Amino acid sequence: GVSRRGVRGNFVPPIKSNGNNAGNMSARVAGKCDDSLDDSTKKCLEILCGPDGELPEKLRNLEPRLIEHVSNEIMDRDPNVRWDDIAGLEHAKKCVNEMVVYPLQRPDIFMGCRSPGRGLLLFGPPGTGKTMIGKAIAGEAKATFFYISASSLTSKWIGEGEKLVRALFGVASCRQPAVIFVDEIDSLLSQRKSDGEHESSRRLKTQFLIEMEGFDSGATNRPQELDEAARRRLTKRLYIPLPCSEARAWITRNLLEKDGLFKLSSEEMDIICKLTEGYSGSDMKNLVKDASMGPLREALGQGIEITKLKKEDMRPVTLQDFKNSLQEVRPSVSPNELVTYEQWNKQFGSLS
Ligand code: ADP
Repeated sequence: GVSRRGVRGNFVPPIKSNGNNAGNMSARVAGKCDDSLDDSTKKCLEILCGPDGELPEKLRNLEPRLIEHVSNEIMDRDPNVRWDDIAGLEHAKKCVNEMVVYPLQRPDIFMGCRSPGRGLLLFGPPGTGKTMIGKAIAGEAKATFFYISASSLTSKWIGEGEKLVRALFGVASCRQPAVIFVDEIDSLLSQRKSDGEHESSRRLKTQFLIEMEGFDSGATNRPQELDEAARRRLTKRLYIPLPCSEARAWITRNLLEKDGLFKLSSEEMDIICKLTEGYSGSDMKNLVKDASMGPLREALGQGIEITKLKKEDMRPVTLQDFKNSLQEVRPSVSPNELVTYEQWNKQFGSLS
């Protein structure tokens, strides 16, 4: 049948058929079921099996426990984020649609001159929606979402990073269309390597870059750490800035409305927006969370017992609640850091 396409559509299977993975169970998994595997591993393998019950060729040389880890911890079969859940960032949404979502939806149109560029980098301060965008790509395009933090490859999976990367790309190639989101990609593709790392981290990096030719999508808070080779592969570099005033208002209103706690006037909202200049999306979320505790704290302060508290007696969240919380929840990104992002954006960002 016609194969479904991945993000780039030209996925190169990462597994060489002569892969020499001595000592693993691959030979035994190659068949259908294997009694030596535990139930959860079996279940993962079954999910990845075709209708014939055979494990796809690409996965046969991989260790079952790594496939299981990818399936359970990295793969998200139903990323439930849509564009409408993300405040602001209109420009980024438009670019990402053109570059990734539409090509996934209409590979027949995105051929030849329109074939999409390779490698998308989302960079900017933490907590601004980069991960949300990754999930929304998958959600909008009905793709499987794979999330991996690059720093876990070098810290948690010491010495096994390469194998896990192989498993990740292998499973993703069987679950197409797929979006692989690499968080903190700088820690993998960084130009500076500390003394402890040498050969193995260089190999991991090289392998990653090769596998990435077929897939894409990474995010970083430290774009300045990316070296030239990494930059070359991440051709589209989108700056994801702090939320503008309207986006901050949207996040605030949306979160409170969900809980039926929104009673602020537009003047009060304007004041909140002015006072939250420099707050990231996740700072805003933390602020709203803290402010929503205001009515509860007040009631408890009046000596009402938590067990006797009636939900309907609690007042809505007020501007004063926000003013109190602003003392507690401070912006997480410093003005200095912002300047660094903006400079990198000017120098390397895709401004169109
Ligand atoms: P990043 O990947 O850029 O570090 P995330 O996408 O993980 O940030 O965002 C963290 C949380 O902050 C999200 O789960 C969401 O609640 C909130 N958030 C951040 N940016 C936005 C945004 N633009 N719109 C709505 N919520 C946001």
